[in-house]
Formats: sequence, C-alpha cells, structure tokens
Amino acid sequence: MIDTGHENLHLQSESGDLSSENTKLRSELAAAQQRLAQLEQKLSFQSQSGLPTHFRLDLELEEFVERFGRRQDDGSANLPGFTVLILQLGSTYGMVRKTLRASISEWILYQTGCRIAAFLSGRDRVFHTREDEFVLLLPGKKGSHLKEFLQKLHTSLAVPHGFTGFSVSVGVTSGASYFPEHGLNRSDLLHHADLAAGAAKDRHKPFVLFRQSIREIAVERMELQNSILKAIEAPALHQLGEQFRLLYQPKLVVSSFDEGKLHISKIGAEALMRWNHPSKGLISPAQFIPIAEESGLIEPLGKWLVYTCASLLEAWTTTGYGDIGLSVNLSPRQFRSSSILQTFESALSSTGSGLNRLTVELTETSLFEDIESTTRILERFAALGLRISVDDFGSGYSSLSHLHRFPLDEIKVDRLFVEHIRTNKHDRVIVGSLVHMAKDLGFDLIVEGVEDAESLAILYDMGCRGYQGFVLSEALSEEEFLRFHDDIVANDMVVQLPLALTHQS
Ligand code: C2E
Ligand code: CA
Ligand code: CA
Repeated sequence: MIDTGHENLHLQSESGDLSSENTKLRSELAAAQQRLAQLEQKLSFQSQSGLPTHFRLDLELEEFVERFGRRQDDGSANLPGFTVLILQLGSTYGMVRKTLRASISEWILYQTGCRIAAFLSGRDRVFHTREDEFVLLLPGKKGSHLKEFLQKLHTSLAVPHGFTGFSVSVGVTSGASYFPEHGLNRSDLLHHADLAAGAAKDRHKPFVLFRQSIREIAVERMELQNSILKAIEAPALHQLGEQFRLLYQPKLVVSSFDEGKLHISKIGAEALMRWNHPSKGLISPAQFIPIAEESGLIEPLGKWLVYTCASLLEAWTTTGYGDIGLSVNLSPRQFRSSSILQTFESALSSTGSGLNRLTVELTETSLFEDIESTTRILERFAALGLRISVDDFGSGYSSLSHLHRFPLDEIKVDRLFVEHIRTNKHDRVIVGSLVHMAKDLGFDLIVEGVEDAESLAILYDMGCRGYQGFVLSEALSEEEFLRFHDDIVANDMVVQLPLALTHQS
C-alpha cells in the first residue's frame, strides 16, 4: 500500500512535471511563433517604406503569371497581360546615404514609396526590393498607357524632397518587360526588366522597354568580359603584350603659328591602349576599359601599361629620343588602387628611367570623388617626379579654382568644348576663360580633339599653345610616331597644316 501510495505520489508529481513542462513548451512555442511572425513581417515588409519586399514579389509575381497565363490559355480574354516595371533611384540617393544623416535617406525612401503608391490603381502592386529599387506589377498598362503612367510618375518622383534648410532631388530610371511578350515566367520577366533598367542607366534615359537587342548587347558584354578574364588571368605581365598594345597620339606644344606653319617647341605623346582580340579584332578602350574596371582586371592592365611606358622612355633615352614626354591614362579604380604607387616605384627602379617625362592623366570626375585621398595620392605621385594632368576638363562640375589644392601640372580641355569652337560662341567663352585661369594658376593647357586647321587657328588666337587631335595626327604605332617626330625635327620643328591657312592676327 505504502508502495502504491508512493507510486501514486510519484505519478502525481510526474503529471505535475508534465503539465508544467507542457506549459513551458507551449509558451516557448508561442514565443517562437511570435518570433517567426516578426521575422516573416521583417522579411516581407521593408522597414523604411513599409512596402512589401522581394520575398512577396516572388510569390505575387508567380501568382500573376499563373492567373494571366490561364486567361491567355483559355482565350477568355483579349487581355493585354501585365507589365513588370523596375524603378531605380539615381546616384544622388547613394551620395545622400553616404554623406547625410540616416534619417534623411530613410525619409526619401518613405516618400518615394508614398509617391509611387499614390499613382497605383486597384490591381497594381508595388514592392521595395532593394534599398534603391522598387518593382511595380501593372496589369493592363502597356504602350501608350504605360507611357502616360510613367510621365506622371517620373514627374512626381522628380519633385525635390524638402528638409529644413535644404532640399534633395533624386532622379530615377526605369526599365520594363511585358507578360507574355518578353517572358512567360517570373525569372525571365524580372531579368528582362532588369536588363532594360540597366540599359536606361547606361544611356542616361529615364525609361527603356526591353527588346531582344538589349539582351544581345548584355550577352556580348559578358562574352567580352570573359575573354578579358581569359586574356589576362593566366599569363605573366609581359604576355599581356600579346593581346594588348599601345598606340601613341602626338601631343604638341607650339611657340608660334604663321601662314599655316606651326613652330613646335615640344613633342610628346599620349599612350592609348588597344586590345587585339583573337577573334573580334581591334577593340577600342571605350568598350573594354569600363568592363575591365568593373571586374577588377584593370589593375594588371595598369601595371602592364606603366612598365611598358617606363621601359619605352628608357629605350628612347638610349636611342636619342630623350626629349619626348609620354602620358598614360589611369582609370579611377587604377588611380585609387593600393598598389599603384608601388607599381610606379618599381617601374622606375627596374628600368632606371626618370619618371619626370611621364605624365599621368586622370579625369576630372575621378579627382573629385574623394578630395582628401586624392590630395594624398597626388602628392605622392608628385614626390616620385610624375607629372599630373587633369583629363576631360570641363565635363565634370568643378571649376578651375577648385584645382589649386592639387599638385597639378597640366589640364586637358574636354573635346566637347573644341568640337564646335568655330560656330559656338558659348564654347569660345568657356575655353577663353580656361586659358586665362590656367595661365594664372601656372598649369600647362592642352586642347584635345582639334580636328581642323580653322579650329586650331581660333584656339591659337585665344592663347592655346598645346594641341592634340586629328588635325595633327591620329594615334600611331611606335615606329610611325618616331617617324612623325623625325619629320618635324628634319623640318626645323615646323609642321605645315594640311590647309594652307593664313593666320589672321
Ligand atoms: P581620352 O583619354 O580622352 O583619349 C582621347 C581619345 O580621343 C582617344 O580615343 C583618341 O583617339 C580620341 N581622339 C584624339 N583626337 C581626336 C580628334 O581630333 N577627334 C576625335 N573625335 N577623337 C579624337 P581612344 O583611343 O578610343 O580612347 C578612348 C578613351 O579610353 C580615352 O579617352 C581614355 O579615357 C581611355 N583609355 C585609352 N587608353 C587607356 C589606358 O591605357 N588606360 C585607361 N585607364 N584608359 C585608357
Ligand atoms: Ca587621356
Ligand atoms: Ca580626354
């Protein structure tokens, strides 16, 4: 009995344990469910805009495809299908995010979400898929309907966001794909709308609708990128020379200009890279440099360029061409790479040639990306004896007066200002003031893209003395360039322009 009593007692205490265990489990489960619900809420809704995220987009786009696909199948409707629209915020948003308080960028996102939502009708959906990206599903909005919708939407999104004491306008670009024309499933529709949005950004257009040709361009770009990878991943630096080569475009400084005769005081050249692709032939740097930049492959290319030019300068010194200066272009990523200084240093020590005949051309926009680090890098370049030139000057937004903080030697006026110098008074005013300011600040000035003698004469009258452009010569092979140099020397440093033009002043 006593035993049984004990047994009972034991059972009682066991059931007591069980029920408290159960209660504990239940509350743990409830807490876990609550956490799960919170997590789901967090994953499903973007915290800043409160809009559904890409998780919801994936689900709902599947549903759209199924629903609209069924209607197409049973022929129940001459439905126009639906549009997938990707809207991306412009670079200003990224700048605001990096430089201003977080609450400001959050407010911009919230406002953008609200402005988009205000334009949606019953069946339209909007998702906030990445920080700077919104995706809209728009049933029935195609062609002129879409155009009208976009006009209103872009106008509303362009209105500046007001804050105390300042306002910020954030541009947007967008790309779209149609169901069923451009894709019958979720991933194709999104991929194609994304390609269209990328094309809009590349072409600086507010909107691009997907077309097969956009896909072809993207595929070609990828192929090109893969072949750059193949071309430069394995071989040692010197083997790059098998596929990449340099051409040299003369850069001349003149002392006078008379009766079509240019009296040359200095002959230099800009090294311009070409890629001799095994199957595609010669490819221009405008095509492959941006790809090499994106993929990081630009760094080995930059090393090859610096070594090639340093040894060329050395070779020229020993063969009697020691007076020729050479310019190289560095892309923003090359310029900011941690290894660039060391590359110059070791090129200098291994070739033994002085770098003071080497000029580094950096674009204006890359200089102003981060003024403090730019100053530091440029000071170290200058300490090595490199000359520094600002390329494409005038195409960015800085003014010459901002340049005084950098140790510069030369500015190159952007081709855009030279192109219409004969007819455009505005361009003449700009170039004229650049000439004066460069003189005051002690920089050499080169005008690039000079294509005819008449433009050169106008530029000469305005005080320009440094020229580069097709009127003098296009980019040449090394042998051609040295012949060009020798001809000038043989002609008592005179170049006769192709037109027998008499200088007016
Ligand atoms: P850039 O530095 O502004 O080089 C001048 C470009 O203008 C060259 O094109 C040149 O052929 C072209 N040009 C020269 N004179 C005239 C003219 O009178 N009229 C016209 N319409 N064009 C003229 P290219 O060789 O195709 O180079 C394009 C750009 O590629 C260069 O612009 C430079 O930004 C970049 N690049 C070239 N080589 C290199 C390199 O080795 N490294 C890096 N990072 N970039 C390079
Ligand atoms: Ca250049
Ligand atoms: Ca340039």
